[in-house]
Amino acid sequence: MYPANFDYARPTTVDEAIALLAQHGDAAKVLAGGHSLIPAMKLRLARPGMVVDIGRIAGLSYIRESGGRIAIGAMTTHAEVEGSSLLKEKCPLLPETAAHIGDAQVRNKGTIGGSLVHADPAADYPAAVLALDAEVVLMGSRGARTVPIADFFVDLLQTAIAPDEILTEIRVPATSKSVSYVKTEQKASGFALAGVAAVVGPQGLRVAITGVAAKAYRATAVEHALAGQRAPRPDAIERAAAHAADGVDPLGDIHASPEFRAHLACVNTRRAIERALARA
Ligand SMILES: Cc1cc2nc3c(=O)[nH]c(=O)nc-3n(C[C@H](O)[C@H](O)[C@H](O)COP(=O)(O)OP(=O)(O)OC[C@H]3O[C@@H](n4cnc5c(N)ncnc54)[C@H](O)[C@@H]3O)c2cc1C
Repeated sequence: MYPANFDYARPTTVDEAIALLAQHGDAAKVLAGGHSLIPAMKLRLARPGMVVDIGRIAGLSYIRESGGRIAIGAMTTHAEVEGSSLLKEKCPLLPETAAHIGDAQVRNKGTIGGSLVHADPAADYPAAVLALDAEVVLMGSRGARTVPIADFFVDLLQTAIAPDEILTEIRVPATSKSVSYVKTEQKASGFALAGVAAVVGPQGLRVAITGVAAKAYRATAVEHALAGQRAPRPDAIERAAAHAADGVDPLGDIHASPEFRAHLACVNTRRAIERALARA
């Protein structure tokens, strides 16, 4: 199916893009890699009157160390994240997660900024960035603001970004190699039925889960159950992982029932913690 008619602009600076977004309000949509927006437009789930293509704005694609963190430009593709030697060395959870996304075509076109703003409940990055305690930089008509990732994901396909804002950068901390991402995917698309990211750090264990609920979430009950344990025994990990879906309302669809998703969340949480600890 063809998308509904739309106007198209290809700004060359972030300021120009923001001005277009401010001018067109809710009618405008940013186009990044197009691997979520274009299918939504073809299905007429999205009908933007103005598409603002940010693909020609220089300087939105990079991975570099900055102020003790690693900064990733929003237009950095999944393939670039997957292949980054800086990330493999300093924040290996992101390349590991990127490698799980879709297929080579999706990874070559899709961007980390687009994935986070789209906030698909089954997308992979949301679990990783929550477990990493990342932050995102949003630029709009009123200037730039930095938002902790826990405040960014609001609900199904909804984030804290305003209509006139562009996500320009994602900031993550350096971690040890003691991280992992374990997912059970929907076989045709690769999207997560339950994807679990685990990070073992100086502050303890952080676990975040995607694919199970309307938005990705931190599995705080699991984290609390293992708090203070540097080398938990397998039975303690299994007991803690059983709380992976506590307090959430699991999604159900033709691919997996709510019960199955909750079960996968527990199994993959145990595996993700075990794998992260084994890499310590
Ligand atoms: C066949 C297929 C399989 C896939 N499998 C997976 C998978 O296994 N795991 C997974 O996580 N994802 C998967 N995806 C989704 C893919 O990762 C998308 O690339 C990603 O979700 C969106 O990134 P994009 O750059 O393509 O964004 P776009 O499609 O261009 O945009 C998505 C949304 O974000 C907004 N947006 C984009 N960039 C910005 C920005 N910088 N600032 C403000 N708003 C912005 C757009 O307006 C739009 O609303 C799959 C997609 C396809 C088509």
